[in-house]
Amino acid sequence: SSAQLPRRCWVEIDLAALERNLKLIRASLPPRIKYVAVVKADAYGHGLPQVAARLMHAGADLFGVANIAEAMTIRELSTDWPVLLLSPVLPDEDRYLAEFDLAATVSSPDEVRRFDAIGRAAGRPIAVHLKIDTGMGRLGVWHPGARALYDAIIAAPGLHLAGVFTHFSSADEDPAFTAEQRRIFLATLATLPGLSDRNILIHADNSAGLETTPGESVFNAVRVGLLQFGILPHPHSLLARTRTEPVFSFHTRVGLVKTLPSGTSISYGRTQHLTRDSRIAVLTAGYGDGLARASSGQASVLISGRRCAVLGRITMDQTMVDVTDVPGEVACGDAVVLVGRQGQAEISISEFSAWADTIAWETLCSVTKRVPRHYR
Ligand code: PLP
Repeated sequence: SSAQLPRRCWVEIDLAALERNLKLIRASLPPRIKYVAVVKADAYGHGLPQVAARLMHAGADLFGVANIAEAMTIRELSTDWPVLLLSPVLPDEDRYLAEFDLAATVSSPDEVRRFDAIGRAAGRPIAVHLKIDTGMGRLGVWHPGARALYDAIIAAPGLHLAGVFTHFSSADEDPAFTAEQRRIFLATLATLPGLSDRNILIHADNSAGLETTPGESVFNAVRVGLLQFGILPHPHSLLARTRTEPVFSFHTRVGLVKTLPSGTSISYGRTQHLTRDSRIAVLTAGYGDGLARASSGQASVLISGRRCAVLGRITMDQTMVDVTDVPGEVACGDAVVLVGRQGQAEISISEFSAWADTIAWETLCSVTKRVPRHYR
């Protein structure tokens, strides 16, 4: 099969690093805190079955996914772990909540009615997490309406309240607004009668939220995505002290090396002209693999432990780089790092993302289907 072919452009996933990361994050939190591993979008492009299996082994308590297909992938691995759907359930998907024993996010009376009907019909209540909108403006009931929805859930025989949560809109860029969201969430929790007598998960923090988690909060769970993959939510994050390591690295190879005279234009649209006689390498990867075309003119790659600038526009399958200053010979077949380490040099996914004016989360979702993932 094609999995046996020589590598042209590929991703390496370090599952041992993933496991260490989870353990480091857990060790940084009080032991009573449950760990919701957020593994939506194919585990942030790392590969859901492989990542979920390793996180089960490493001690994740729950999984957060976006849709039924992702939940089914986890159910194929195990029926033991609770799975929470973090995106809305569509009406024609309702029955899968019972069929696969999934927990749903509830933001509205309509969802209470629909999921209650499913739980009653199944003869077993559907687990739900009440979501409170404290300033994300996405899912959740706007906070003054939380009490009414809470009461409706408690009164519904087909539902089992398993959690109450909120989501921060700006934990990585606006600590004051995040503190305000926390305050609203706590104040809203205080209006929910009997909440503390129920054995439920109360959660708010995503990766960036962990930076400012008050040690003695009533929260008893966290929802971690990015940080478990060893990526910091922003460059100056205090979470660097957790010492997680990148799980993902992105690689390609040199397909051709040639010399071109000063003044030659490189690639489509002739956006760049050589200012000296140059040695260029043509790489076997382009935007068809996930190198954002928007990063043309900004991006570099690592060859022989040196940074080499991308020349001109990134094309679908090939990218030109300047190897004039690389000592020694650069040859067809040589290894190229797009994201990751090579010798002492490193390109972080955050840097790679900034070149295309985007964020690590999006980059991880942008590596295309033709790029094989190799696990170690
Ligand atoms: N919780 C919810 C509801 C999310 O949508 C996400 C991801 O976007 C997370 C938690 C995890 O966020 P992060 O990847 O920043 O840790």
